[in-house]
Amino acid sequence: MTRPIGIPRALLPLLPLLPLLPQAAGGQAPPPRPTLVVFITVDQLRGDYLDRFGAQFTGGLARLKTGGAVFANASLDYAITETAPGHATGMSGRFPRSTGIVSNSLGVLDPQAPVIGGGGAPASPFRFRGSTLIDWMRARDPRSRALSVSRKDRGAILPLGRARQQAYWYASDGRFTTSTYYADTLPAWVRQFNARRLPHQYAGRSWTLLLPASSYPERDSVAAENRGRDVGFPHVVPADSGLAARVLGNYPWMDQLTLDFALEGLERLDLGRGSAVDLLAISLSTLDAVGHGFGPESREVHDMVLRLDQMLGTFFDRLFQLRDSAGVIVALTGDHGVTSFPAVYTARNGRPADYVDLSGAARMFQTMVAARGVDSTAWMWEDGVLWVDRPAFSRAGVSADFAVREFVTAARADAGVLRVDQVRTLAQRDTTRDAIARRWYHMIPPDMPIDVVVTLKPHYVWGNYGIAMHGQPSDDDANVPVVFYGAPFKPGAYREAARVVDLAPTLAAVLGISPTERVDGRVLRAALRSAGTD
Ligand SMILES: [Zn+2]
Repeated sequence: MTRPIGIPRALLPLLPLLPLLPQAAGGQAPPPRPTLVVFITVDQLRGDYLDRFGAQFTGGLARLKTGGAVFANASLDYAITETAPGHATGMSGRFPRSTGIVSNSLGVLDPQAPVIGGGGAPASPFRFRGSTLIDWMRARDPRSRALSVSRKDRGAILPLGRARQQAYWYASDGRFTTSTYYADTLPAWVRQFNARRLPHQYAGRSWTLLLPASSYPERDSVAAENRGRDVGFPHVVPADSGLAARVLGNYPWMDQLTLDFALEGLERLDLGRGSAVDLLAISLSTLDAVGHGFGPESREVHDMVLRLDQMLGTFFDRLFQLRDSAGVIVALTGDHGVTSFPAVYTARNGRPADYVDLSGAARMFQTMVAARGVDSTAWMWEDGVLWVDRPAFSRAGVSADFAVREFVTAARADAGVLRVDQVRTLAQRDTTRDAIARRWYHMIPPDMPIDVVVTLKPHYVWGNYGIAMHGQPSDDDANVPVVFYGAPFKPGAYREAARVVDLAPTLAAVLGISPTERVDGRVLRAALRSAGTD
């Protein structure tokens, strides 16, 4: 082969990838070369949903279940099971300990990256550490491009890590937008999509049941749901179009809009048609809103999952009209699960469950350390973790050990608290058998000054918000499906243990690339047709 003009010598090792070599006569056809990776995150898709509702799937989830490699009950295997850490894990193959994204509040908020046109908090991935799949793809071939879309800023941003590709999310006025981290203005295709004012057209629309009511074993109107308001079908989008656009995230059509926007972007950016592999990341948020409001046992969650199945069915039909399915790889997961309403759990099982609020212990801590001259910025209590700036305590001449011990004593006295762990001792635990210690170990970056972590008893949840919650290291919150679909994968229901950190290295393996740094996950070889790919 002669050296093509204009390709620097450093890129020469890539050349075998560029031209498609003629197939040897009579030889076996090589596996089709992937042209597009579609990575779908369903917000709050709990590990049991694909089985629980699966018999009624006929659309996209049915396609993935029957034609894909399904690890239905895979685990995030870390402790603070919130949206930002979940979206940082899927494409990085690394736990929050390594990505640095430990919670929503320490997620993508960045005062230096305003949203273009307003309509949301400033956002960027500046807290994200390390690389993701798109970086590994570009290390192999710099022409690879990515588009990531979501209703939520963190859902769009974090699957790309720090890569300055295209990331768009939904602004409160009904537009898709991005922040100045990515661009100074919106491209024409996004402005044109926004100008169609699709969200406003859902004003007054009724969310009714997809199937006859007899297809749903759940009771419809349950007092614990949705803070007691609008607990039964139909759920009607407000008639005012501006308000409709603002609250569309609570209705199934937000996901339809997100999928429509993703396909528009695929077409307008011409993704998956070049000689390099491209990435389309989609995060669908409505199930999270519905699950928070109505809880995992609700008829609303059941119907929302069935509607997702239908919407994804249409999405795949359109996608495979636009792109040859032989070159498309699909991966689907959830960013976290969810725990029942305490009242619903207790009514069903006769066992105690409740909301837990340790703000009293935090106030006691505040009063105690403030009286000794410690500044309120020297500590923080949030998401079950106590941050302690020990040097600041030392400067004030205050024993951090003493203050923390007092907090721990108060926390342990709460009926909902299972255990309180010192972060510095987590590594010495038997993290094979002690799943909670392991999940906290996977959570906390060694350089973050987190002193102690609090785990609640099963079915207890933080706060007193009147909504169903997630965020605990429990299996309800930490288990989500991991599904692969496409030519490189052996379809089947896999019962072996899998983790969400395995997703990105497995995709890398079928793309024939390697992570450019150490990852926590491993390649799920059982799911590959050709186990030799690496
Ligand atoms: Zn949530």
